[in-house]
Amino acid sequence: MITVLKPNTTDEQRDHLIHWLEGQKVQVHISQGDQYTILGLVGDTTHIDIELLESLEIVQSVKRVSEPFKKCNRKFHPEDSVIDCGGVPIGGGHFAVIAGPCSVESRDQIVGIAQSVKASGAKLLRGGAFKPRTSPYDFQGLHADGLALLSEAKKVTGLPIVSELMDIRDLDIFEDVDVIQIGARNMQNFELLKSIGRTNKTILLKRGLANTLKELLMSAEYIMAGGNENIILCERGIRTYETYTRNTLDLSCVPVLHELTHLPVVVDPSHATGHSNLVPSMVLAAAAAGADGIMVEVHNDPIHALCDGAQSLTPAQFDDVMKRMEKVLEAVRQ
Ligand code: PEP
Ligand code: MN
Repeated sequence: MITVLKPNTTDEQRDHLIHWLEGQKVQVHISQGDQYTILGLVGDTTHIDIELLESLEIVQSVKRVSEPFKKCNRKFHPEDSVIDCGGVPIGGGHFAVIAGPCSVESRDQIVGIAQSVKASGAKLLRGGAFKPRTSPYDFQGLHADGLALLSEAKKVTGLPIVSELMDIRDLDIFEDVDVIQIGARNMQNFELLKSIGRTNKTILLKRGLANTLKELLMSAEYIMAGGNENIILCERGIRTYETYTRNTLDLSCVPVLHELTHLPVVVDPSHATGHSNLVPSMVLAAAAAGADGIMVEVHNDPIHALCDGAQSLTPAQFDDVMKRMEKVLEAVRQ
């Protein structure tokens, strides 16, 4: 349920109403806009008397929100959320590029890639230290050593870092990680979502391989329900009957998500396509579609990459697409 307060409502009147609502066992989520204050009521609101609420002097309107996702719903928070990623804002007109290898492999590899993607305009460095591989015999990541190397690359370049967390028991060693990625395979690991919901870490939540947008938003809601509202959504392709590409990039989810939620939406064309030659076009398309950022895999030596080499751009290819993407961003901003 949302309650819109009249523009001249004082803080005291607002707090008095919130206190009364909380007394009715609902959580109140406040969104302060330029003109109006919106109170989002979460929980069992069935016993709240809408007519009584509407009759209050400070109340402009009251509406029930039918969607099951509340805190991430744009009706609760009409303005875009701007999410801080270790000092880099994403959302609400702030576009950012996250780039780096699928996996951290060595000091030279991660520091070198960090320096080159930074020079091309990337604002955040990605690198997996815990890898969700389909086969248990494939490279699983360097774990704590990988995170230490990412930290070193951060120290050298100043780029904030993004890395995937698969097990909440590893949270302590993610202290220096600015953005925790929850990968596609864990999008509905509800206990993991609840646990990270109790932290104040920025979360990059990737859409599951076979999940609807509503399910993605319900997963964001799990994190927000725990108190953590620092979430960026990521479209990384979904599984369809098409096998030519690794996944199918559902680009229309960008405007759809912007309609449904105030959270920023980032597109990952690398996992979506699986082929480096297809990545540049999808980077440009994502920028044109209004994404708040992109995440691209870049490797200095894709043929010898320990993971996802086929979809990784070389630093030179990345540099080229970044220049072209700037022109698209300029055109769509006009
Ligand atoms: C990744 O970003 O390297 C990754 C494993 O992504 P996803 O969870 O989207 O497959
Ligand atoms: Mn990858």
